[in-house]
Amino acid sequence: MTRTGLLRDTRTTPRRKVLISGAGVAGSALAFWLNRYGYAVTVVEKAGTLRDGGYPIDVRGTALEVVRRMGLLPRLRDAHIDLRRLTFLDGDGSEVASVTPHIITGGVAGRDLEVRRGDLTGALHAAVRDDVEFLFNDSIDTLDQSGHGVDVTFRGGSRRTFDMVFGADGLHSRTREFLFGPEEQFHRYLGYCFAVFTLRNTFGLSHEAVMWNTPGRAAALYAVGDDDEVHAFLTFAHPKPPFAVFRNPEAQRDQVAAVFADAGWEVPGMVAAMHDADDLFFDGVGQIRMPRWSSGRVALVGDAAYAPSFLTGQGTSLALVGAYMLAGSLADREHAAGFAAYEHNTREFVTVNQEQVGEGDATLFPTTARALKQRNDMLLKLSTMPSTEGRPAHSALTLPEFMPMT
Ligand SMILES: Cc1cc2nc3c(=O)[nH]c(=O)nc-3n(C[C@H](O)[C@H](O)[C@H](O)COP(=O)(O)OP(=O)(O)OC[C@H]3O[C@@H](n4cnc5c(N)ncnc54)[C@H](O)[C@@H]3O)c2cc1C
Repeated sequence: MTRTGLLRDTRTTPRRKVLISGAGVAGSALAFWLNRYGYAVTVVEKAGTLRDGGYPIDVRGTALEVVRRMGLLPRLRDAHIDLRRLTFLDGDGSEVASVTPHIITGGVAGRDLEVRRGDLTGALHAAVRDDVEFLFNDSIDTLDQSGHGVDVTFRGGSRRTFDMVFGADGLHSRTREFLFGPEEQFHRYLGYCFAVFTLRNTFGLSHEAVMWNTPGRAAALYAVGDDDEVHAFLTFAHPKPPFAVFRNPEAQRDQVAAVFADAGWEVPGMVAAMHDADDLFFDGVGQIRMPRWSSGRVALVGDAAYAPSFLTGQGTSLALVGAYMLAGSLADREHAAGFAAYEHNTREFVTVNQEQVGEGDATLFPTTARALKQRNDMLLKLSTMPSTEGRPAHSALTLPEFMPMT
């Protein structure tokens, strides 16, 4: 008998049915653990397939233990990007400093993982696809909790009832909107916008990133490997979120082109490539901060509940840890007690990681000439320092063992 006496004997009791919206990092990790704890899991993903490749993401601290417990560490070590150098340039393109990336990210060389987003979601999906039902190219249309479960209608037309539903549908979560209303209430804009896209690597870059800065503007090229593609990031300070621009891809291109019109270095070529890019992604830099992560039989996980912004580099790690903690909290509890335990045991970890950045103060993107000079002086000092031991926030949670591993 467990603490609450609720551990299900799957030989005699029908498996409880749960639906996860989103097959990203949080959704697939949650599917893995809920399946492990005896739930019958369905995942609905609005995209037609999983995308491979993609921008690089980090797995650090506590999250490394999550992927180790999932048995994914060897596969992810093979996919490790091994970024060797991060070079900072002045407005005229001259070098300010060249540092090992961990000095900036607060990570630990040789221990942390940096992989392409698609390599991580691919590994997570491969670990669950035989045991979990995936519905691609579909999404939740309505949620109704007035009965004994959650009645769901799908965009594709079908209707089903689940014991619980989870929103793992990212920063702009629709599940969150169904439960709690418009995103604006929870979105904490951090004062920057960014555009990211890929372009041909005509720069001779390999396993390295180069960042050009002037006050309030940054342009970075990130070469993940030796292949002929680089990721371009164009980031700029913008005091208020430009809501109209978020909804209009043409306006996004125009805005970025205007902000970087007189920029030096390789920026004119990057802006030209942005106009032709078919994978342009533009957004504001922001966090999601919510007083509660669940309502009734529906709970949120990952960016949907607590996006920390890419400035922290911790979004993926929070998604992995959050999924582990949420599923574990439901291993031997009903939804109300499980959701309460999930929040109680995970919130502090989320908060210390979100608090690593404040509005307009991102180290990589100083907004004034004075702050940029201070940043550059700091980089010069850091370039002579040995590797870091890792930021305490990254490991601020010791994972409980929810059930014996099989
Ligand atoms: C440009 C960029 C750079 C980043 N760099 C880093 C970094 O260096 N380090 C780091 O740790 N993190 C980084 N992040 C953040 C990181 O990608 C996220 O924090 C992390 O992926 C969170 O995972 P998630 O599963 O919660 O959300 P997501 O990865 O956003 O996944 C959400 C999933 O839900 C699906 N979905 C959305 N809406 C619906 C719907 N209505 N119905 C069904 N499915 C839906 C989406 O298609 C997607 O598959 C970066 C993000 C961006 C955009």
